[in-house]
Amino acid sequence: MGKIVQLDEHLSNKIAAGEVVERPASVVKELVENSIDAKASRIEIEVEEGGLSLIRVLDNGDGIEPDDCLLAFNRHATSKIKSEQDLIQIRTMGFRGEALPSISSVSQVELKTSTGEGPGAYLFIENGKIIKQQQTNSRKGTDLTVRNLFYNTPARLKHVKTIQTELGTITDLVNRLALANPEISFRLKHNGKELLQTSGNGNLLQIIASVYGLQTAKNMIPVSFSSLDYEVTGYIAKPEMNRASRAYMSLFMNGRYIKNYALSKAIQNAYHTFLPIGRFPITILSVKMDPTIIDVNVHPSKHEARLSKEAELVQLVETELRKVIRNERLIPDVQYKK
Ligand code: ADP
Ligand code: MG
Repeated sequence: MGKIVQLDEHLSNKIAAGEVVERPASVVKELVENSIDAKASRIEIEVEEGGLSLIRVLDNGDGIEPDDCLLAFNRHATSKIKSEQDLIQIRTMGFRGEALPSISSVSQVELKTSTGEGPGAYLFIENGKIIKQQQTNSRKGTDLTVRNLFYNTPARLKHVKTIQTELGTITDLVNRLALANPEISFRLKHNGKELLQTSGNGNLLQIIASVYGLQTAKNMIPVSFSSLDYEVTGYIAKPEMNRASRAYMSLFMNGRYIKNYALSKAIQNAYHTFLPIGRFPITILSVKMDPTIIDVNVHPSKHEARLSKEAELVQLVETELRKVIRNERLIPDVQYKK
């Protein structure tokens, strides 16, 4: 008699949750990315107790068809890719179909959603099981609430840091999402207090002012350059506006926040000799490319990416930023004052 058994779906979701849902901020990330994929122009995020007692994400996007609602909570169920071909040209934030089943296996989830045509759907899911399902009348969009995260996974709960630390991670994340998506209006509230609000009018400099303050925004230089395969736009700070941490260098590739060592190094090289040792620049750079060049399917969190033409981008960024910083240095400060 063999000893190998197939895991049931709930158990395998809970295991997958270990990779997808590391902490409250991962839930916020997955839910907001779903709202972005649903073409929302307004996304409101409400958090209580650092996200442990409540995370609510409300959007005005496409909504989910009532018939699709149950499927959305099944593992590997997605509306975003259909074939192997789609996998090499991903244009959406999601595609793995793992977030909702993972999240709902380690929390209590309430979903209200409507496509704006016909009745909407309401679902209550606990411990991965559907407890309640009914029709609703709601506005077009999706309203998803996650309560008591990790209540049934004590080991994971133990690894969650203080409320302040978790909130800090969530705030950093939402700030980045806002910087990456100037056309979307974001609002973040913690325990009823508003922490961020952006207008969604497309003005990146205004978002930089909301996130990093007016003084920083006043000391940013707009950049825009391209090569055969890449188009880079954004803002970089004057060298004197430096910081003690690398966390102020944000890089977005096709709208996705990406950590990339080689590019981060290229940006620092561009500032070399203009910054004191141990200080780092503030940069917000958005890189657009054909989706076949970038592979984000490296890790479930999708924070890493492999580029088939990385050297070209590294060289482009370093040379072009260097030019901008050198030029800025040649022009007396006074010309920048408004
Ligand atoms: P993925 O995003 O990888 O497809 P998810 O588990 O995050 O997987 O979501 C499953 C499906 O549920 C999505 O493919 C999408 O069709 C639907 N969905 C989830 N959230 C939303 C939302 N806010 N608005 C519209 N549809 C959504
Ligand atoms: Mg998703």
